[in-house]
Amino acid sequence: MKITSAEFVMSNSDVAKCPKEPLPEYAFIGRSNVGKSSLINMLVDRKSLAKTSGRPGKTQLINHFKINQNWFLVDLPGYGYARVSKKDKKVFQKYITAYFEKRKQLVCSFVLVDIRHEPQPIDLEFMEWLGANGVPFAIIFTKADKLKPGAIERHVNTYLNLLLETAWEEAPPHFVTSSSNRMGKEVLLSYINDINES
Ligand code: GDP
Repeated sequence: MKITSAEFVMSNSDVAKCPKEPLPEYAFIGRSNVGKSSLINMLVDRKSLAKTSGRPGKTQLINHFKINQNWFLVDLPGYGYARVSKKDKKVFQKYITAYFEKRKQLVCSFVLVDIRHEPQPIDLEFMEWLGANGVPFAIIFTKADKLKPGAIERHVNTYLNLLLETAWEEAPPHFVTSSSNRMGKEVLLSYINDINES
């Protein structure tokens, strides 16, 4: 898919106020610092459509971007940032939960994980929650440029095997990406395009 336009539409913390247009929507979420903003900017070929996190944990809003006039890319806040207070965490959980439960336009949500790291309980629990609530999701492994090809395969297999051994009967769709060398960009955009056209 060629990106011909990418425009910021709105930020808010209330799912009821999200755009009313019935366009298919794809959400990106993951732990703070996972590389989400960099990935979004790489996908849409913009240097700073999504703000990279100088201050992790501070971009606590649901951000809608309209792409090619026919789908929404949604940048959700990073989770698991240790310095966010308990009260903020509760507020965060409430509106993000509401977003996933109520947003009918949501077609797929991409959960980002750093390919270098062992599977983290917070990510695994979040995926289980998505599954239990019937929210389709795919995994995006980020920062693949940090590993050699053999290690990429090993880390991905370890991750997927763990999912299969625990909660899942089949592995979710997954993508290996790097914003540094643009790995995975076309595959991911084709995945979105194919769903949009089906
Ligand atoms: P966010 O908090 O999830 O939005 O993460 P950012 O996009 O702000 O990235 C966090 C840090 O990881 C920054 O220092 C980025 O330069 C770095 N980073 C992000 N993506 C990549 C990548 O694909 N490869 C490498 N090597 N570093 C990355």
